Amino acid sequence: MSAQALQAALDNALKSLKQVRMHDPERRVEIALLLVRLHGLDEFTARTGGATGELLAAEFYDRIRSAMREQDQVISIEPRTCAVVLKGIRNREHVKLAVGKLDRACRDPVEVLGDCLTLRTTTGVAITNSEVTTSGALFRSAAAGMKLARRQKTSHGFGDRSTAKPDQDTENLGRRIGDGLSAGEFEMYFQPKVSAAYQNIVGAEALIRWHQAEKRVVGPNEFIAIAEASGHIGELTLYAMKTSIAQAARWPGELTIAVNIPPSVLADPNLSINLNDMLSIHSLPAERITIEITESELMADPDSAKKAIRGLREIGVRFALDDFGTGYSSLAYLQDLPIDELKIDRAFVSRLDIDDGVIRSVLDLARNFGLKVVAEGVETEAQAEKLKELGCDYLQGYLFGRPTPPVEFLGVLEKRVR
Ligand code: C2E
Ligand code: CA
Ligand code: CA
Repeated sequence: MSAQALQAALDNALKSLKQVRMHDPERRVEIALLLVRLHGLDEFTARTGGATGELLAAEFYDRIRSAMREQDQVISIEPRTCAVVLKGIRNREHVKLAVGKLDRACRDPVEVLGDCLTLRTTTGVAITNSEVTTSGALFRSAAAGMKLARRQKTSHGFGDRSTAKPDQDTENLGRRIGDGLSAGEFEMYFQPKVSAAYQNIVGAEALIRWHQAEKRVVGPNEFIAIAEASGHIGELTLYAMKTSIAQAARWPGELTIAVNIPPSVLADPNLSINLNDMLSIHSLPAERITIEITESELMADPDSAKKAIRGLREIGVRFALDDFGTGYSSLAYLQDLPIDELKIDRAFVSRLDIDDGVIRSVLDLARNFGLKVVAEGVETEAQAEKLKELGCDYLQGYLFGRPTPPVEFLGVLEKRVR
């Protein structure tokens, strides 16, 4: 493989980014290029001969290949440089996770013909969320990241962000989030979750919306990252929890409510106190709340996340791993993760008619670990039927209802829950 293969892979990734954007302009998705350089190959070859140098280069490639997900493309450009193309990236944390895995995989000592050595690598990273970026620009940006890392003597460096669409004025928007919270511009919408077997509503997921001027309703993909960066995420999450709990307490039956909580808030020691207070004010049993955390966020710092989850479970709340299948969790991690549910990302549901392999294996895995499975983004009867047949427990998606404001959602429930 070669530079041409890399260019083809990048062009292909940019093309699929464009397609995703066309079908779903709201979806938060990026692609990344990692350039990984192996150091010390020349000295090693000079010392031990050409054949052993080749063995070392092959080991280098194999380690990177096995550290990455199956859908990531690993291309050997020359013996000492590998390129990795990551598609379907949700955020920068996701990329850092991949780089961390790669670093760890290279660090284990290698034995080549009786010689034991450690691979030393430097990684240059380029990320883009713009489908008009070229493969050349991405390559230059990753090369700049590599240069930066070498200058700063770090294991990896991010290239310049000129390949990314300019952010809206982050600072300004951060301030407007704070003002919007005080002015009551945020609202929680609710999307039903149904049982796969009977399609009756068993609960809902709370999804935040921002009512800006001129009746513009803005979705979370446009502001959650900025709320995190500007320090408003704690306040926003408290608002989301408080209103979701207040609503769920008014619903008929024993319906559950799922709330999305980012790890930065999960780690806050006051969270369990606040949660307990809110639950007792509204007399909602803790078991009716599910906290959703995304797989990629959890894997960014699994040990602290696990600790926080254990603490919160003592109150009785349940946990779901969101966007499952898009991150890098290994089976070993899932095994002792104190969670109740996996939510299969909608990317796999939308491909169900072409390939049901991923969903089958997630269901297998879930059964072994005693977890329930929710499929997200179910849009057609055929998908619902297939998911039921495969043994999925719950379904969520436009087929059963779009996220709706509280009053409409209550109306739906009063009609359907009997
Ligand atoms: P998520 O947790 O994976 O939520 C599911 C997203 O998929 C929602 O987008 C929902 O409207 C959309 N969706 C549901 N069914 C379908 C379907 O059948 N087809 C398609 N194409 N899309 C469907 P939304 O509301 O824009 O939320 C995006 C993300 O923002 C969420 O992804 C979640 O990660 C985050 N988010 C939402 N609300 C909150 C919140 O209150 N706090 C935090 N921290 N994050 C939130
Ligand atoms: Ca979610
Ligand atoms: Ca999800």
